[in-house]
Parts: sequence; C-alpha cells; structure tokens
Amino acid sequence: MTRVLYPGSFDPITKGHMNIIEQANGLFDEVVVACLHNPLKKSGLFTIQERVAMIQEIYQSVDSIRVITGWGASVDIAALYECKAIIRGLRDSRDYDYERQLQRFNKDMSTQQINAVCFFPDSEYQFISSSAVKEVLGLGKDISRYVDDVVAKKLYLKVGGRNNGC
Ligand code: ADP
Repeated sequence: MTRVLYPGSFDPITKGHMNIIEQANGLFDEVVVACLHNPLKKSGLFTIQERVAMIQEIYQSVDSIRVITGWGASVDIAALYECKAIIRGLRDSRDYDYERQLQRFNKDMSTQQINAVCFFPDSEYQFISSSAVKEVLGLGKDISRYVDDVVAKKLYLKVGGRNNGC
C-alpha cells in the first residue's frame, strides 16, 4: 500500500490542485490531502474546516482520496500517516526553486526517508493559484473555470455574488 501526502493551504482548492491530486491518485494507492495551518500566513478567506469540507465534498465518492488537517511540519504529518512521499505541484521555475529548497529543509527536519514527488499540471491549470482566483472574484469576475462548482458556490457566498450572476 503506497500512501502519499499532499500538503498545502488550499484556500480554496483549485482545479490546479485537483489536477495534481488526480495525477497522484492514478499512481498511488492512497492520497492524503492535508490542509495545514500555517502560522506565518494570514488566517485566509476560508477556515481550515471549510477548506477540508469542500475537498471532502468534491472527492466524497473516491475512497482512495482522504482529507485531513493538522499543525506542524509536513514531514511529521507524513510520518504520522505513514506516507511514503510528499506530493507537490510545479507550475513554473519559482515553484521549482521553492520546492528544491523545501526538500532540503524537509530532509534535515526528518529522521525518516520521506521524498518529494513533483507533478506538472496540465497546461490549462498552470496559471491557476488560490490567490489569483480570489483576486479575480474580488473584481466581480467569473471564476467558475478555475475551481470546482462546490468551491465556486462557497466563494460566491463568502465574497458576495456581485456581478457574478449568482
Ligand atoms: P498556493 O501556492 O496556491 O497557495 P498551496 O499552498 O495550497 O497553494 O499549494 C499546495 C501545492 O500545490 C504546492 O505544491 C503548489 O505548488 C501546488 N499548486 C498550487 N496551485 C497549483 C496549480 N495550479 N498547478 C499545480 N500545482 C499547484
């Protein structure tokens, strides 16, 4: 049984994140999506519980995708859930540089061998980020192509349906 961890803030989950989850789900037995509290980031638009609930609703019929939450280092959470690797998505060279550095720190922080496995999103998802989606929505524009319907509905409720036809 090969289980992997996909940690992130997912505020909210986008179709870019989903593309990575689905690629990993085709390769590994179980993907554990971890919505992590990041003390260095502002509280975010959605609470951790709201983020988890959206991901759970999207993947409710997929037994091999599990959603959890937690505090602390991804390597510790990976060890706790007996994950063999940490999944990450690489959109561009900035993600690459960041992940390379993170991998180095993760190796230092953990006594266990937990590798990073990076996936490239399909090209239509390459430019999507949670923060860009929130900015576009804040301008009153349609975000439905960037996020699942479950998330779009929650975003419109949270930010307001101004000019969004909702
Ligand atoms: P963000 O960088 O959007 O704040 P997260 O902290 O939730 O996102 O990111 C978790 C992981 O998902 C990171 O490895 C990040 O590079 C990756 N990721 C985010 N958006 C995309 C995307 N559109 N395509 C591929 N990977 C992505």
